[in-house]
Amino acid sequence: SVFASIITIGDELLIGQVVDTNSAWMAQELNKAGIWLKRRVAVGDDKQEIINALEDQARDTHIILMTGGLGPTADDITKPVLNEYFGGKMVVDEKTLIHIQHLFANIYRRPLTDRNLLQAEVPDVCTVLPNKRGSAPGMWFEKDGKIFISLPGVPHEMKGIMTEEVLPRLQQHFTMPFIAHRTMLTAGIGESYLADIIQPWEEKLPAHLKLAYLPNYGMVRLRITGSGADKEQLDRDLDTEFAKVKVLAKEWMVIDEDLPLNMVVGKLLKEQGKTMSTAESCTGGYIAHLITSIPGSSAYYKGSVVAYANEVKENLLKVTPGTLATAGAVSEETVKQMVKGALDALHTDYALAISGIMGPDGGSPEKPVGLVWVAIGNREKTVTHQFNFRFDRMRNIEIAANHSLNLLRK
Ligand code: ATP
Ligand code: MG
Repeated sequence: SVFASIITIGDELLIGQVVDTNSAWMAQELNKAGIWLKRRVAVGDDKQEIINALEDQARDTHIILMTGGLGPTADDITKPVLNEYFGGKMVVDEKTLIHIQHLFANIYRRPLTDRNLLQAEVPDVCTVLPNKRGSAPGMWFEKDGKIFISLPGVPHEMKGIMTEEVLPRLQQHFTMPFIAHRTMLTAGIGESYLADIIQPWEEKLPAHLKLAYLPNYGMVRLRITGSGADKEQLDRDLDTEFAKVKVLAKEWMVIDEDLPLNMVVGKLLKEQGKTMSTAESCTGGYIAHLITSIPGSSAYYKGSVVAYANEVKENLLKVTPGTLATAGAVSEETVKQMVKGALDALHTDYALAISGIMGPDGGSPEKPVGLVWVAIGNREKTVTHQFNFRFDRMRNIEIAANHSLNLLRK
């Protein structure tokens, strides 16, 4: 196997000011590429700490990936430390210089300072990995058969260089086996129950195929990863096994692709040429946010009424005062009327309404924290669903949103 490690660099990571999302994303990408991640460590912007980490990781991994500390400010020391460690001298990289001049002149439209120009200097012993999205390029070093890769800390810059430069180069360097995946999204079943159901199949899975459970807020993603020298054979093996597990998990399968739920919903609405709107009480617009996070959602999504207070439910969604007084804001009747109100106010084919008690306060014996009503409907018909979640406020909101989107899909 090819082993890798990740070193994230930056004082802000150590004090918890910035959460290290870089290494989680990189770990997923390495895993998909068939590279075995052995370790992830974080160090501060400190020369000796960086060098110690490099030496530790180089002992038993082939690829050492670093992010952070490449900026032009005094606190960013990764570049000079690497230059010294690999015995290079700083030289101006012409391509990077031209790129930075272009960035400042045409994109940032700011004068280029000497400090910014420093970004074009790289150790002469590295291969420059161009950064289309920013000024600090990535760097690739080789020493004693090991590969050291330094990338900027800014997540979208790091991701761009990983995808465009690092992964293809690693693939070439190590003549890796082919890696392929089959992924399905399930909803409405916990991972342990799902595991029981598919266990007989999982036990007989050939050794070159591995199954992963990736649970997230009421959904479980199942991913089979395979590796092999023959791409066609690998695809055939994966298809055979995927077909079997699809039968077993049929009842809970949302989609047999690696798509998040908000994309699945968007895809279905687009295919049907239908539009939708939302009327959200307890999720406060979170479902609208999930839907509109997808580029192109304006083709099928019109908008939301965030009807948090009863008076908004009454005034904008025409929920009757009688219903609010007798059944209450968190009730089947209220979400039904909210659907109708959204259809009328926003002129869509479908509407989704949600009202619930997310906690920690506001529960009662009849209506405990976690009680959520969801209604989905069109002009002809509205279906409702009651949930009882048992989490904290933020998780209740996440789960309610996911379950609502899943109902919408149906
Ligand atoms: P720049 O040239 O922008 O200064 P840099 O390589 O110096 O980039 P840092 O200064 O370490 O990178 O970090 C830049 C920003 O990227 C930080 O403000 C931080 O928000 C983010 N960042 C850094 N490391 C990580 C990480 N491991 N995970 C997520 N975000 C990170
Ligand atoms: Mg910086």
